[in-house]
Amino acid sequence: MTPTITLAKGDITRESADAIVNAANSSLLGGGGVDGAIHRRGGPAILEECRKLRASQYGKGLATGQAVATTAGDLDARWVIHTVGPVWRIGGGDASLLASCYRESLRVADELGARTVAFPAISTGVYRWPMEDAARIAVETVLNTPTDVEEVRFVLFDDRAYEAFSRQLG
Ligand code: ADP
Repeated sequence: MTPTITLAKGDITRESADAIVNAANSSLLGGGGVDGAIHRRGGPAILEECRKLRASQYGKGLATGQAVATTAGDLDARWVIHTVGPVWRIGGGDASLLASCYRESLRVADELGARTVAFPAISTGVYRWPMEDAARIAVETVLNTPTDVEEVRFVLFDDRAYEAFSRQLG
């Protein structure tokens, strides 16, 4: 099945969904941007589970392009799916790793039985991926990934991101 793609503007921590995706860093121990916002509003239960995951399975951190789920704490969701986007460096970035973030997050969502999943624009903040390209990769990957997820909602923080994703949906 191909999920229905919807767009929303605003703060992803205010969304209601089965799973909310976090643009995490490999430490899984929190950071700035959307990661900081999710931990702030979601409360300490998320960090506690992240620490346990570090101790048990991800001693070297979560690899770029991979995804792992925790509780959503106080968020209006059942799970947070943490994924680590690639950094855009001078000259480019590894698009296959950015695509992998969306694919792996949907795979984890399927394992959990999540039917609605909210994504931020992964890698487009501190990791500097150009918004138009990130939007294209996000939409193409979701449309090309077989999944039981019924709705993928991209939650875009500002007009620039919202418009870039709108253009991709034509
Ligand atoms: P990355 O390190 O993957 O670049 P960031 O959190 O720095 O992650 O940024 C990813 C995107 O998330 C950016 O487009 C940023 O504007 C957006 N963003 C930041 N805070 C929020 C939030 N609370 N809800 C939704 N999107 C957010």
